[in-house]
Amino acid sequence: MSFPSSSSSSSSSSSSSSSSSLSSSSLAAYGWDEGWEAEFAPYAEQGLLPGRVVRVDRGLCDVITSDGIVRADTEFVVPRDPMKVVCTGDWVAVDPEGGDPRYVRAYLPRRTAFVRSTSSKRSEGQILAANVDHAVVAVSLAVELELARVERFLALAWESGAQPLVVLTKADLVPDAATLAHLVQDVETTAPGVPVLTVSAHLDEGLDVLAAIVSGGTAVLLGQSGAGKSTLANALLGDDIMDVQATRDMDGKGRHTTTTRNLLALPGGGVLIDTPGLRGVGLWDAGSGVGQVFSEIEDLARDCRFHDCAHDSEPGCAVREAVESGELPHRRLESYRKLVRENQWIVAKTDARVRAEIKRDWKRKGAQGRAAMEAKRNGWR
Ligand code: GDP
Ligand code: ZN
Repeated sequence: MSFPSSSSSSSSSSSSSSSSSLSSSSLAAYGWDEGWEAEFAPYAEQGLLPGRVVRVDRGLCDVITSDGIVRADTEFVVPRDPMKVVCTGDWVAVDPEGGDPRYVRAYLPRRTAFVRSTSSKRSEGQILAANVDHAVVAVSLAVELELARVERFLALAWESGAQPLVVLTKADLVPDAATLAHLVQDVETTAPGVPVLTVSAHLDEGLDVLAAIVSGGTAVLLGQSGAGKSTLANALLGDDIMDVQATRDMDGKGRHTTTTRNLLALPGGGVLIDTPGLRGVGLWDAGSGVGQVFSEIEDLARDCRFHDCAHDSEPGCAVREAVESGELPHRRLESYRKLVRENQWIVAKTDARVRAEIKRDWKRKGAQGRAAMEAKRNGWR
């Protein structure tokens, strides 16, 4: 079973009893492995307890430890830096001493991280989830496939460091096999290096494949509202998991608590992180992610005459040549441009230097445009 030791209900706990052999068995269901154990060694020497953050709210967090879920204060490092605030999915070192809440003393270096801008006014990124291995992008087959949207989610996933996976949901609504194969192919072309699955929760098809993939790590579900994320989460968690969680999460007095976790161990193995913030996530500084989604464009761009070619009206542009020859779909170049623009825009909101570059670029484009018009007027072309 995927839950930790049955002592989980005590949040004000036993002091030293069994906390050295701790981790291994009970935390393994939450993703604890040899790598984390090695990273944690110096903290173990200080007598601190390892745990994984299952929920964060207002400077406090719930941490799953070998002692069950403990409430802990996270205001331990540079509170001004939002990237240094613990988030769901972090592995942390909890002080076993003290009352309720306890203290998180440190978090282990993150393997991956989902980050987004907090609001239009604030310049800092906000960290949404850490140590995610699989970014499952749910895409509904009930509506027309919007490849540009898929590309945005993939860029975000690559940027986080997690391996993306596209799940085409509601496959029962596309009964024609040839049509379905065609849709899969479209997505595969759009997503080089990304596995594409089709599932139907209604027919219970493909869910076992998804469960097997996510069993080896920590997964998040991304995708538009209505894409079928909750349905996938329920299928992965099993019908009764929420009830189980409710009975397990009791406070020290044996009452059921109403808090929800954003990180859950899956009965088939693996961990699912589902935070409200991740669902409507926007692009944030997804520079290298863009490159990975559009790897074939970046490859072509190496043959452009100018190093900083915008594949717009520059002479000797290998990307536009590929569009003209039919090698590269025009739609692909359009979404690439859009994503790059959007990404620059987000970065520009915080980075005056980039803002200046973009402005210079606009000026240059303006001048080019004027020159082109001039040339046209003079009968050139
Ligand atoms: P979310 O907003 O991404 O969490 O999407 P939901 O999981 O709430 O699903 C949105 C709608 O799609 C709901 O009405 C579901 O019943 C429906 N849905 C989910 N999975 C399937 C499926 O496999 N087949 C069909 N036909 N509908 C589905
Ligand atoms: Zn070019």
